[in-house]
Amino acid sequence: MEIINNGVSTLEDSGYARIDKWDDEKTAKLSEHYKAILELIGEDPKREGLLDTPKRVAKAIQFLVKGSNIEPRDILKSAMFREDYKQMVIVKDIELYSMCEHHMIPFYGKAHVAYIPNEHITGLSKIAHVVEAYARRLQIQERLTMQIRDCIQDTLDPMGVAVVIEASHMCMQMRGVQKQNSVTTTSAFTGAFLRDTRTREEFIHLIGTKLS
Ligand SMILES: [Zn+2]
Repeated sequence: MEIINNGVSTLEDSGYARIDKWDDEKTAKLSEHYKAILELIGEDPKREGLLDTPKRVAKAIQFLVKGSNIEPRDILKSAMFREDYKQMVIVKDIELYSMCEHHMIPFYGKAHVAYIPNEHITGLSKIAHVVEAYARRLQIQERLTMQIRDCIQDTLDPMGVAVVIEASHMCMQMRGVQKQNSVTTTSAFTGAFLRDTRTREEFIHLIGTKLS
C-alpha cells in the first residue's frame, strides 16, 4: 500500500515545456474582446484601475485553459516503468482548479486517485500532472472525473482505477442558488474497484470521504 498526500499540481517537471509564453496575437485579440465586455457591462475601460485589465484577463484565461494543449496520455507514457508491485497505489488530496464550461467560473477542490498496477506503474507526480492537464480546460466535474480514470486505464492498463473528486463550484456559490458550502462529489471506477466491493471500500476509507 502506498499513499501519497498532496501530489504536486503544476505542470512543471512533467517533462514538458511550460506554456507560460503568451501568444501575442491571441492575447491582443482577447484583450480587444475583454475591453468590449467592460464597455458592455457599463464600465469605463479608460479608468485607471482598468487600463491593463483586458490584457491581464486575456493572459489569465489562456493560463486557465492551457491544459487543452496537452495530451495527458503522453505524460503517463513519458514515465512508465515495469514493476511487479500489485497493491493499491493511492495519490490523495491532489489540489485542482478548473473552469465550469457552462458559466466560465471556477470550480476547485481535491482529486483522489488510485490504481492497482498490472506490470506497469508510473511516476507518482505524473498522476497529479494528469489531473492538472484535464482540469485546466473548460470542464464539467463529471467529465473531468471520467477523463482522468480513462487516461490511466488506457495507458497503464492496471487491474483497476478509482477517481473521486470533491469540488466547490463558484457558479453555485456566487450566483443562482447560492449554496455556499455545498461540495459536489463525483466518482469513477474500473476493474477491481467496480467488481470488488471490499477494494472499493478500502479506497473510500483511505481517502476519508463520506462517499458510500
Ligand atoms: Zn457552472
